[in-house]
Amino acid sequence: MFILEPSALQGLITVLQAKGYTVVGPTLRDGAITFDAITSMDELPRGWSDIQEPSHYSIVRRDDDALFAYNVGPHSWKKFLFPARLRLFGAKRVGKGFEVEPSPNTPLPHYAFLGVRACELRAITLQDQVFMTGTYADRNYSTLRKGMFIVAVNCVTAGGTCFCTSMDTGPHAGKGHDIALTEIIGDGVHHFVVEVGSKRGEDVLSEIPHRAAEPAEIERARTLWKEAARQMSRTLDTKGLPQILAESFEHPHWDDVAKRCLACANCSMVCPTCFCSTVEDVTDLSGDHAERWRRWDSCFTSDFTRVAGGNIRMSTRTRYRQWLTHKLSSWVEQFGDFGCVGCGRCVTWCPAGIDIATEATTIRESSAIPVK
Ligand code: SF4
Ligand code: SF4
Repeated sequence: MFILEPSALQGLITVLQAKGYTVVGPTLRDGAITFDAITSMDELPRGWSDIQEPSHYSIVRRDDDALFAYNVGPHSWKKFLFPARLRLFGAKRVGKGFEVEPSPNTPLPHYAFLGVRACELRAITLQDQVFMTGTYADRNYSTLRKGMFIVAVNCVTAGGTCFCTSMDTGPHAGKGHDIALTEIIGDGVHHFVVEVGSKRGEDVLSEIPHRAAEPAEIERARTLWKEAARQMSRTLDTKGLPQILAESFEHPHWDDVAKRCLACANCSMVCPTCFCSTVEDVTDLSGDHAERWRRWDSCFTSDFTRVAGGNIRMSTRTRYRQWLTHKLSSWVEQFGDFGCVGCGRCVTWCPAGIDIATEATTIRESSAIPVK
């Protein structure tokens, strides 16, 4: 492991830009820590932290210059790899027929994501399975994903709604990054302990001033990862959970959640693993030009499940059940792992404070199904 001084972060951004990457990182906007393209480390939320609880998010000033002392915000990295709106193609009227106009062949950016948390790294690998494997791989996603560089940042404090330890996704980013940073601040020290995850990461690091970490410095980073895990107030026992949920189709608790759920779809919009989309065709007023767009959709919207002959999920009860059981049960059957990484976003951003971990635990604890 190595040590980077905070000022070397600017060098990291500059080196990545020189290599042709568009650097995207956390920045303060509209009272939240969101992700955007950045060109300078001065755009990072220096000295800010966040407070998260069910249905509550706020930012607070710290009394130091920590650069990554917050947890995940309302945005996830999926907005860059799987954009909320994407023009698929256009068509223009030509005589009595039409001509298809493919989307402009502009090169897609090479992103360098700066500040990816361990749970988010896992979420990206879950979306990789969805968009990059099987018969219908998504060309846009695959191109963006293959060209990107990841700087992970290990969490050293747990957010108020996180449960990554239950989902085995954090707080330490074990693999999938090019470089991982742990910010150490306090007792007169402010630096980053760096782990290298790839040859690309090694090459980038070689261009920035750094030094080998002392054993005590590595130990301090490890202690902070453990401390973050210990702080996690929310837990979810996942043993046997997919089966329990699959067999709790008619559990009365779904009615209880439905009384609180507004079917607003916030949970699926903020979730870093949700991948549902719909396709819209739009025309101009003259009727000479049409476009097809893909945009995010959600299992909470009524149109999402409309098929010939009617809607297959008419109630909030069935929609919430679909969402939760996909994350924690049928995703396992579909992709071999849970579709929830325990980031807590859906809990923080649910206006009704509905908590996936609590709801699943309620069903688990009142279920008569033996855990295998
Ligand atoms: S379901 Fe909720 S906690 Fe799980 S990954 Fe999605 S937003 Fe995060
Ligand atoms: S669980 Fe919460 S965020 Fe999700 S649809 Fe219901 S009210 Fe909205």
